[in-house]
Amino acid sequence: MRLSEKNSVVRRFPFLILLSLFLSVASGAGTLQAAAHREGRRPFTLDIPKSVGDGEAFAVRFGAAGAQTLDLELDGKKLHIGAPSPVSGFFEALLPVSLDTGKKRLRLTLTVQWKGGEKEVLTRAVSVKKRAYPVQKLTVDGKFVSPPPEAAEKIRRDRAEMRAVVTTTSPVQYWRLPFARPVPGEVTSLYGSRRVFNGIPKNPHKGVDFDAVMGEPVAAVDAGEVVLVSEHYYGGNTVVVDHGLGVLSAYLHLTGFNVRKGQRVARGDIIGFAGDTGRVTGPHLHLSLYVLGESVNAEPCLETGPRRG
Ligand SMILES: [Zn+2]
Repeated sequence: MRLSEKNSVVRRFPFLILLSLFLSVASGAGTLQAAAHREGRRPFTLDIPKSVGDGEAFAVRFGAAGAQTLDLELDGKKLHIGAPSPVSGFFEALLPVSLDTGKKRLRLTLTVQWKGGEKEVLTRAVSVKKRAYPVQKLTVDGKFVSPPPEAAEKIRRDRAEMRAVVTTTSPVQYWRLPFARPVPGEVTSLYGSRRVFNGIPKNPHKGVDFDAVMGEPVAAVDAGEVVLVSEHYYGGNTVVVDHGLGVLSAYLHLTGFNVRKGQRVARGDIIGFAGDTGRVTGPHLHLSLYVLGESVNAEPCLETGPRRG
């Protein structure tokens, strides 16, 4: 007896229900699009959310017997995945929706390279939900609002250095959702807040601030390689960890470093100590999450608690 197409897919991928549950929890995004498909001749599973907020990242999981590589493209951003994750057996990606995309709908293109040379192109629509980001008024030292002319060159070099590392896409995936919290403190300033420094409107906050005391250990949110250890004008002492496949985390305003550039870290390893270097109102940790060069909200990707009481 021939099994129906749906049954044969379910038999091949019996872990789909668990996976969908995991993804909806991990991504914090809208409901998942239907999981099992058979568009060409080969069955596959594809999990993506139906909708994502602007300034957020979303997880994509693709699984199929006989798929060799997967190329993804979203809003001009491209990712090549050379092999499925040895942990899950799926091709896994995090993709970013820019905070200022302005688009209501994005088109995701997946190109599957099947064993034997055949290629298959799949397209899916992801709708963008406009998030309401708050306005935050802050008072800092005047030199950080209108930096002195001699700081301009330093600021330019800092930006170029940061840009160069956060736009790299290393081929090995070290990340797994959800990420560990870098410090146990509460979030004190949300990603995307439109900030007014000393009465002057500045760029939105491209990170999440956590309450932290001076010298408190700061943990890497996941495994990876340290790709930047540097002192920046605005960010102060900064560490960036590359988690692979275009996912990087940055830790700002540290009082001291605990890693060297090029060092491999495990999830939870101490990369430095919280402080008040750079443009700050007091000691705290600023965490930025970059996905394919785009700064996105790290908060929905983090595990919840334990928290300091
Ligand atoms: Zn911050």
